[in-house]
Parts: sequence; structure tokens; C-alpha cells
Amino acid sequence: MLLAACGPPGGPSPSPVTPAPSVAPSVAAAPAVVEPVTAEPAAVEPAIDPAPAPPTIRGEVVLVALGPFPAAQLDAIEEHLKRYAAVDVRRLEPLALPSEAWTAKRKRYRAERLLDFLEAQIPGTPMTTRILGLTAVDISTSKPPHDDWGIFGLGNMPGQAAVVSTFRLKKKARDAAHVQRRLNNTALHEVGHTFGLDHCTEALCPMQDAEGSIANTDAANDVFGPECAAELEAGFPLRRFP
Ligand SMILES: [Zn+2]
Ligand SMILES: [Zn+2]
Repeated sequence: MLLAACGPPGGPSPSPVTPAPSVAPSVAAAPAVVEPVTAEPAAVEPAIDPAPAPPTIRGEVVLVALGPFPAAQLDAIEEHLKRYAAVDVRRLEPLALPSEAWTAKRKRYRAERLLDFLEAQIPGTPMTTRILGLTAVDISTSKPPHDDWGIFGLGNMPGQAAVVSTFRLKKKARDAAHVQRRLNNTALHEVGHTFGLDHCTEALCPMQDAEGSIANTDAANDVFGPECAAELEAGFPLRRFP
């Protein structure tokens, strides 16, 4: 009898009750039929309070192209970040690559200097605001023992600035959609760093270390793994911004 009261509201209809065999009812059987009816009121669920207004975003990401960069790729990144990082996205007009970040030795731009340059574009913004620069040129950082190591992207952790380059993401990509998927994943990864997320070992989490190859990026899910998602929520909870 108790099982009948546990079905979820809106679930499948209960199976038809098999009719009782038509035997002559005995006097003792009659009360057993009445019993479940009187028990029903006890199973009524308490009224649920109206849900509070749903939380909205964690912060804002300012997107900006550094040098020539396809608008369609920026549009797709914007949608990806809104959906999977739960942020608002604002766009700036494209900026020229800063000459102070250029390094002639390998014809690359130093990612740390790009981060400084980007951060200077959003002075006085709240700590929930980030700026993500997108560029098609090769970018690099120091990664011992390499003093100039080409990378997909870099983000201050935690901090306000991140940068992503398509230069290496394009290599051996099957098509434009494949490049875009890598780009979206790397943008989410670098923005994750700015929100304080370090590299993790969660299977298929976008915060896994690239470890010098594109394999993890290609395999990663769009959503953060449970540990990263919990850390993100603890540090930058979803809320309504004024
Ligand atoms: Zn990383
Ligand atoms: Zn993770």
C-alpha cells in the first residue's frame, strides 16, 4: 500500500489494478479495501514555498580582438562563455597588438605582456569583471626549461585578464568547426583560471592541463567537472547583479 504514494507527480500513470477474483467476499475482507483510502491524506506532500528568483551570472567578460580576428569566431565564443561560464559578455572594438609584447627572437607575442595590456583596458572594474583577448598571432610564455614556449592561451589565476590564440589551435584541425570547438574550450579554460580554477585531473573537464598537446582540449566536455564547478560556485557564486 505504501508504494502507491511514492510515485513522482506527473510520472507515468499507475498500472491498472488487476480485478480481484470474483470470490464471495468474506466479512473479514471488506475493511481491507477501505483502509488505503483513509490513509491517503497522510501521504499528501506539504506545499512547496515559491522558488526564489533564479540566480543569474558570476560576472562579466569583456571580449576584445587583438589584431585581425574573425567576428564569427568572437560571436561563437561569446555564446559559449554565456552558456558555460554563466557570465555576461561585453565587446570592445578591436585593439592593435601592443608592440611591447612583440619578441623578435621567435616572432611571437609574450602572453604576460598581453595580459598586462588587456588589464589596463578595464581600469576600476569590479573583481567580477574579466577581459579576454583573442588573437590569431602566435603567443608564448616561459615554461622552464623553455624561455619562450608557444601556447594556446594564458590567464591570470585568479585575476582579470586572459588571452587565447588560434595560431596553434588551427594546427591539424579537421575544419573550421573543429577550430571553433578548440577555441571555445580554450576560452572557457582561460576564463576559468581568472575565476581561480587551477588545472584539475577530472576526466574530460575543460580545466585539465593541455600538457603541451591538443588532445585534452579535443576530448574535453563543455561543462566544468563537479569539483571545478563547486569551486567556481564557492568563489564566484551565481547571483543577480544590479
Ligand atoms: Zn591552463
Ligand atoms: Zn575540473
